[in-house]
Amino acid sequence: MAEPAKEIVVDPGLDETIKKLTPKKIEDTINKVLTKGAAARLKVYMQTCVHCGLCSEACHFYLSHDKDPRFSPVGKVKQTLWEIVKRKGRVDGEFIKNCSRIAHTECNVCRRCSMYCPFGIDMAYLLLLVRRICALLGVVPQYLQDTVNSHAVTMNQMWVKQDEWIDTLQWQEEDAQDEVKNARIPLDKEGAEIMYSVIGPEPKFLAQLLGNISIIMTVAGMDWTMPSFDGWDNSNMPMYSGDFETMARVERKHFEAAFKLKVKKIVMGECGHAFRGAVYDGPKWLAWKEPPVPLIHAVQFYYELIRDGKIKIARKFEQPVTIQEPCNIIRGRGLGDMLRYIMRATCEDFRDVSPRYEHNYCCCAGGGVINCGPPWKKNRVEGNRVKAEQLKATGAEVVITPCHNCHSGIEDIVNYYKLGMHVKFFSEILVDVMEIPEELKV
Ligand code: SF4
Ligand code: SF4
Repeated sequence: MAEPAKEIVVDPGLDETIKKLTPKKIEDTINKVLTKGAAARLKVYMQTCVHCGLCSEACHFYLSHDKDPRFSPVGKVKQTLWEIVKRKGRVDGEFIKNCSRIAHTECNVCRRCSMYCPFGIDMAYLLLLVRRICALLGVVPQYLQDTVNSHAVTMNQMWVKQDEWIDTLQWQEEDAQDEVKNARIPLDKEGAEIMYSVIGPEPKFLAQLLGNISIIMTVAGMDWTMPSFDGWDNSNMPMYSGDFETMARVERKHFEAAFKLKVKKIVMGECGHAFRGAVYDGPKWLAWKEPPVPLIHAVQFYYELIRDGKIKIARKFEQPVTIQEPCNIIRGRGLGDMLRYIMRATCEDFRDVSPRYEHNYCCCAGGGVINCGPPWKKNRVEGNRVKAEQLKATGAEVVITPCHNCHSGIEDIVNYYKLGMHVKFFSEILVDVMEIPEELKV
């Protein structure tokens, strides 16, 4: 198997864990996944792929590495899963380590490539299968595994304790009251119309986003609540590490919170992967046909608030802006028009990107790649030179993106390629430009 294209990255999650593997454990684990976890779908994909390489041009890693075939989707699968199948699981620890590197850090499971394959082969699925094997063998980048451990123990991604969670909400409620009279973050309100849920990093690093939603909900006159108990975090890193048992526990807990509060629907904050977990991967693993409680993403929620006149725009944001479209809500759910509706309603000078909608490039942070942490940061930003070029071509000064992974990934690209842009969430723009009714002015 080929070595990484650039420098070797030291990561105990890969380097140390493979020391505990035995040939028997590797072979048994692989064969269990291949026969019980994959079966027909894997067979169909393997027998259908003609190795034409048409999927290559779809991948930002391939394009950003000057079309190095090792970074093409088919190249990544060829170096990992196809070799594993060919050797019937008789591979060594070093091979598994390279599989984990490729599947966890050189693919965002963004599914752009499956749109470019004439047969629609889902290469992201195949690389997730590689992650599954690595996770069952315990070979996962250390930072990513830490978030999975946190999910397993605390039911949130960031080791946030319940009293910290409640304190943060109360602190943000007070801050929101400085902006809007009677702003609240109602906790555990049974029978409310909406349960609002967020990802773990919000109370940990971006608490002002909780204050923003309090302002938006108050101005829009919404009947809403947030749980004070486990289930408030809608993020799901085990979905990306390959620990699907923990993924299912996390998704179940999120919906149980909604059941307990007897709400009519869930509105999720600005995050793409959390939406994927709640709408697709989680329910599928739990054998649910649909999410058991109606659930919408913040983009749809903001779109409906503006469309229905529940929030009015007082003055538009003036700086030139562009967008980063999160794969999981645009390619995955088709919210591209709603997103542009909000952009045009709130911003004076919106400069669209090319390619766009479902053809847009991934941020290169999603799919758990940014959660692999600082050791892999250089790998990640160098893997998305095309995104930097795409954003630069718009001439915008601000990038708006309704996703935490996109937000952090684009910030890194902006700094690394010196794009001189700022990155914002929609809620930051909304609280800036919306009309505050007279009776709510402080
Ligand atoms: S990063 Fe996206 S385009 Fe590239 S191989 Fe993975 S799923 Fe395909
Ligand atoms: S996945 Fe599709 S596009 Fe890519 S090499 Fe195989 S057949 Fe060709």
